[in-house]
Amino acid sequence: MVKNADMKDRYGDIADIRKKLEKFPKAELGFFPTPFYRLNNLSEKLGVELYIKRDDFTGASLFGGNKIRKLEYLIGDAKSKGAEYVFTFGATQSNHAMQTVCSCNRVGIKPILYLLAIVKPNEDDIRSNLLLDKILGAEIHIIEMQRGETEAQASERSVRMAREHMERLESQGHPCYEIPMGGASETGSLGFIEGCIELEEQMRAMGIRADYLFHATGTGGTLAGIQGGLKLLASEMNVISIEVGVKSDDYAGKTAALANKSLGLLSLERPPEVKTEDIHTDSNYYLPGYEIPNEASSRAIRMLAKEEGLFIDPVYTGKAFAGMIDYIESGKIEKGKTVVFWHTGGATGLFAEKEILGDLV
Ligand SMILES: *Cc1c(COP(=O)(O)O)cnc(C)c1O
Repeated sequence: MVKNADMKDRYGDIADIRKKLEKFPKAELGFFPTPFYRLNNLSEKLGVELYIKRDDFTGASLFGGNKIRKLEYLIGDAKSKGAEYVFTFGATQSNHAMQTVCSCNRVGIKPILYLLAIVKPNEDDIRSNLLLDKILGAEIHIIEMQRGETEAQASERSVRMAREHMERLESQGHPCYEIPMGGASETGSLGFIEGCIELEEQMRAMGIRADYLFHATGTGGTLAGIQGGLKLLASEMNVISIEVGVKSDDYAGKTAALANKSLGLLSLERPPEVKTEDIHTDSNYYLPGYEIPNEASSRAIRMLAKEEGLFIDPVYTGKAFAGMIDYIESGKIEKGKTVVFWHTGGATGLFAEKEILGDLV
């Protein structure tokens, strides 16, 4: 363990970074800081110092998650631009879409969702986030996958459809604001630069320094913000980002570029640079695919529930946690190291379609 005093010189000045972030219009949507604590039972079982960052507790509803951090900046931006409608995208069980609808409702913007039916919802048994979207009163457009179409192509098609819709509304005098899938934009990632600082403050207060941080990575907006934040703090924590679906070959490069764009918004005199080599993603834990369960992830979900009484999800955090356990159990991470798992939410997935949940019990 390292004392607070030893840490001071190694890191950038948190107050300065916070001041830069305060320039942006921000909607106060969540409850921060989210809890951060040691998982005592699992630490003992796995032989590492294991901590968890509970972004499933971001609020504003019972069903929080990492997107709230990005949405504080995105919705703040939408509000400041006078948007009447917000459009966003995702799968039918998208956590991001649901959190966007909650956020819009709180600030009085009308949410419109274009959702891809990767797993086809059953009209007679609407579940999980899609159910919540309906209760929240979102306008929902479900895009069926076409034969021979990849997820990426279908998602491009849904963006084209939404943009036509936006043009129609705007031509009738209704300002619209587009939030990309996952809230992955330089504005959204500001929320995770802030999140990274929040975590650092909590670790300093507890007198710990993490060797590793694990989290699930999808659109990359969270990862971009974390990497940006780590650069600002001059932190040497190793971030291992577990992929949850097929990624393009240039995923690391694109994510680094997003991080740098986000850092660019802060108008620093000498902004630090996130390099492609800084990004460590691992594609070994999501198969057979996005929203398709696997046994290691189910085991991780059961393990965390049994040992610590808390829930992770089959699509994102279960796969990331399974990856982390494998790194620890296989000795890729030495015993005694300090490891942080960033819980990014998603537990509504436990109530999703059977195809998504798998053979959990
Ligand atoms: C969206 C999401 C992620 C991935 O975040 P990105 O910023 O899209 O990479 C991880 N976990 C959960 C539960 C999510 O909903």
